[in-house]
Amino acid sequence: MEKRLTMLVVDNVEVNRASLRSAFIDVYEIVEAEDGLAAMQMLHEKQIDIVILDLFMPNLDGAGVLKKMKADPKLRNIPVVVKTAVDEETEVEMLEAGADDFIFSPCDPTLLQKRVKNIVHKYTLEHELLQKQVEEARHTSKIREAFMIDMSHELRNPINGILEITELSREIEKDPVKVREAFDKIAMHGEYLLSLLNDILDISMIDKEEITFRDKLFGLSNVVAVISEQFFTQCKKKDISFSFEVADIVHEYLIGDEVRIKQIWINLLSNALKYTEPGGSIKTGFSQQIIDDKKVLLEISVEDSGCGIAEASMEKIWRFFERDETAGATNEGGFGLGLPITRSIVEMMGGSISAESEEGKGSRFLVKIPLKFGTPPAQQHKNFQTMKALIVGDEEIACEYYKAILNRLGIHFDVSWSAKETLNLLKLAYLRGEGYDLCFVNWNIQGDSGAALVHSIRKIFDRDTLVIISPSYASDLMESEMKKAGVDYILRKPVFQSTIYNLMIEVCKKPFSEKMQDEPSYDFMGKHVLVVEDNAINAEVLLGCLEHVNLSCDWVKNGKVAVEAYTKMGGDYYSGIFMDITMPVMDGYAAAREIREIEKKSGEKSVPIIAVTANTFAADIIKVYQSGMNAHITKPFNAAALYHIAEEFLSD
Ligand code: ADP
Repeated sequence: MEKRLTMLVVDNVEVNRASLRSAFIDVYEIVEAEDGLAAMQMLHEKQIDIVILDLFMPNLDGAGVLKKMKADPKLRNIPVVVKTAVDEETEVEMLEAGADDFIFSPCDPTLLQKRVKNIVHKYTLEHELLQKQVEEARHTSKIREAFMIDMSHELRNPINGILEITELSREIEKDPVKVREAFDKIAMHGEYLLSLLNDILDISMIDKEEITFRDKLFGLSNVVAVISEQFFTQCKKKDISFSFEVADIVHEYLIGDEVRIKQIWINLLSNALKYTEPGGSIKTGFSQQIIDDKKVLLEISVEDSGCGIAEASMEKIWRFFERDETAGATNEGGFGLGLPITRSIVEMMGGSISAESEEGKGSRFLVKIPLKFGTPPAQQHKNFQTMKALIVGDEEIACEYYKAILNRLGIHFDVSWSAKETLNLLKLAYLRGEGYDLCFVNWNIQGDSGAALVHSIRKIFDRDTLVIISPSYASDLMESEMKKAGVDYILRKPVFQSTIYNLMIEVCKKPFSEKMQDEPSYDFMGKHVLVVEDNAINAEVLLGCLEHVNLSCDWVKNGKVAVEAYTKMGGDYYSGIFMDITMPVMDGYAAAREIREIEKKSGEKSVPIIAVTANTFAADIIKVYQSGMNAHITKPFNAAALYHIAEEFLSD
C-alpha cells in the first residue's frame, strides 16, 4: 500500500483545527500544533509533507514560522498554505515570503481540498524531476570518471608501443625490413593517438558550443575518393567485402564543410569495420534529394553485416561515454565518443542521423544533411562530341549510371554485355573505319574474365587505337595485374562525372605513349624557404621533405626569430615560409601579421606564407587567412600534398 502523506495543521483555535482535520483526514495523516513554536518543533521531529498555517497565533506567528522554514534548507521545500481572515496586502506579502497558496477562512472545504491537492501534485512532480536529474548527474559523473581512467590507460598503450619500438630500434637498425615494420607500427600508434585526442578536442568544443563550419565549394568526388581508397584497403585487410553505391548525382559540387562531412562518414565506416567480423560485408553510398532551387539533401548511408546493437542499447549509443555492453561489441576497443560527436556535428549542420539494427545481423546508419549546391568549375561544360566509347557492362544499374554521365558529357557510346559481343563490336567498328576511342571494361564481367578480355583486345588492336579504362576498387596487386593485361587507366570507384571529365582531358591532351599516369616530379633547385617550427621532430620531417625536392631551408624555432630572419635576409630572399602556429615566444599568427606589416611599410612583394598546423577546425583556418597567410596544410601532412602546395606557391 502507498504511504500516506503527513499534513501539519498549525492553528491556535481548536474549532479551526477540527474543521481542517475533518476535511483532510481521509487522505492525509494529520498532526497538529497550537502555535508557531510547537509547529517548528514538530517540523524538526517528523517527516511533514504539507503545512496549513494560521497567521495570527501567540508565541511565534505564521509569518515567523514561514520565515524560519524558508531559511532552513531541510524545511525549505515543504509546501505551505497560509490561512487567515485578513486583507489582500498580507496575501501578497505571504506569497512573496514563499507561501505556496493563501486562503481566507472560513473556506469551502471542497475548494480547500482541491487547492491542497494541486499543490501536493506539483511538488511531487518537481521532486521526482529533481530526483531524476540528480540521478542522471550522478550517472554521468560516474561514467566520466570511468572514462578518464579508461582513457588514461588507452593513451598509455600507443605511447608504450612507440617507446618500445624506439628502444628496439638500436637492435634492428641494420635490418631494413624490420625498420620498415617498426615505422609502420609507429605510424599506426601515432594515428590512433591522434584520433583519440581529436575526439577529446571535439567533445570540449561541442560542450562549449564552439564548433564553426566552413562554407566552401567542394566536389563530392574528392570526399568519396578519400573514403573509398581508405576503406577499400582496410576492408580488404580484414577480409570484409566493401561496396559503394552512388545514385545519379545531379549536383556534384556542394557548399559546406568538406572536412566535417568526411569526419561523419569516416566515423560511421570505422564503426562498421570495427564491429564486423571477417567474411562480412559493408555497403556505403549516397544520394541526393532536391530541396529547392538552391539546396539538396545529401543522404549518406553505411550498412554492415556485423554484430548489430541490442535493442535496449539503441538509445544509449548516442550518449557520450556510453557503449552497447551486450554481445559482440564488447570485445572491441572504443569509448562511446564517435556516435555522440557525429550526431552533434550532423545536428549543428541542420541535419539528422538515425540507426536501425538487429543484434547478430548488422546495422544501418543514415545521415541527412541539407547543403547548398555550387556552380561546377567552368570547364565542366566542355563537350566531347568527337569521342566514341564502348561500355562493357556487368550490371544494369552501373551501366545506366555510366550512360547518364557520358550523355551529359556528349560522348557517343555503345554497350556490350559479354567478352564475345565486345570483340565483335570492336572488330566491326574497326573494319568500318569508325573505331572506338575508349573502352570501359569492368574487371568482373558476368561469366568472363576482364583480364582475358583486355588481353584479347590488345592482341587484335595496337595500343594506339584504343584506350582501355577499368573502373574498380583496386588493390595495388590488382592494379598491376590490370596494367599488365593492357589497361591504360584505372578509375577508382565510384566514378563521378568529374572523374570521367578529367580523364577525357588527359586522354585528349597527351600523346598516347604518355598516357599512363605518372607520379609528378618536383624540383625547386635554387629556391630558399624558411621553416618556422618549435618541435624538433616535426621540423626534421618537414625539412626532410623540402630538401628532398632541392629546396634550401633555414630553420627557426619561433615566430619572433622568423620575423628577424625575414628582415635580415630581405624580402626577396625567401620564396616561401612554412609557418607552425602554436609556438613559444611568438605564435604563427602574430609572426605572419608582423611580416605583412613589414612588407606594407617597405612596399616589398608579398612572400607566400603557408601555415603548417595541427589545428584543423574552421575557426583556426579562418584565423590563418585573417593573419595574412596564403594557404594551410594540416599536420600530419603527406608529402604529395606538401609538394602540391609548394608547386602552387613557390613557383614564380
Ligand atoms: P565506440 O568508440 O565505442 O565505437 P561510438 O560512439 O562510435 O563509440 O559507438 C557507440 C557504441 O555503439 C559502440 O560502443 C557500439 O556498442 C555501438 N555501435 C556503433 N556502431 C556500431 C555498428 N556498426 N555495429 C555494432 N555496434 C555499433
